Amino acid sequence: MSLLAGVVGVQGDVSEHRVAFERAGDALGFEVETVAVRDSGTVPDCDVIALPGGESTTISRLLRREGIDDEIREHVEAGKPTLATCAGLIVLDHPDDERVKSLGVLDVRVERNAFGGQRESFEADIAVEGLDEPFHAVFIRAPVVESVGEDVEVLAEFDGKVVAVRQDNVIGTAFHPELTHDHRLHELLLGGLDKDD
Ligand code: GLN
Repeated sequence: MSLLAGVVGVQGDVSEHRVAFERAGDALGFEVETVAVRDSGTVPDCDVIALPGGESTTISRLLRREGIDDEIREHVEAGKPTLATCAGLIVLDHPDDERVKSLGVLDVRVERNAFGGQRESFEADIAVEGLDEPFHAVFIRAPVVESVGEDVEVLAEFDGKVVAVRQDNVIGTAFHPELTHDHRLHELLLGGLDKDD
């Protein structure tokens, strides 16, 4: 089957997510086409989407301005796979930060820039639920998940802090899985799809 993967392209690592989806598709035997989402009207055609990192205040404002926010909400509510990384995770949650107009589709609370000062950016090998080998995770001014609702599964922790979660069709990571050549998280996201559909 052939899938269309949309990478929300108002900011962040758009091409890296597109490549990761293509590689994940190859590994799973899916034909994956990718598209950058910059306007409304694209997300409804997508089978899968990713929300990259960047600056969550800016991303949420642009999504709203372009009318992409409601389309993402509908995509998630329709049960379609969604990967949200770093600022993307902040955009999907229910934070207490008024500057981020978050979509409220993921039942978590996230603290922005939670590693602070000297830990602004770092890399670490972490265990991720569902993956056999550790994942090399790149953290850049990363958030952490402070609390999760009952339908949310914790996929990974680092230093006792939750850094990856799954709620049904949505995977959220505080780190950047698109920045290494390891596409296993994109694969995990696509893995639930039936390739004979
Ligand atoms: N610190 C950013 C924010 O709060 C997220 C950083 C990132 O996406 N790498 O929006």
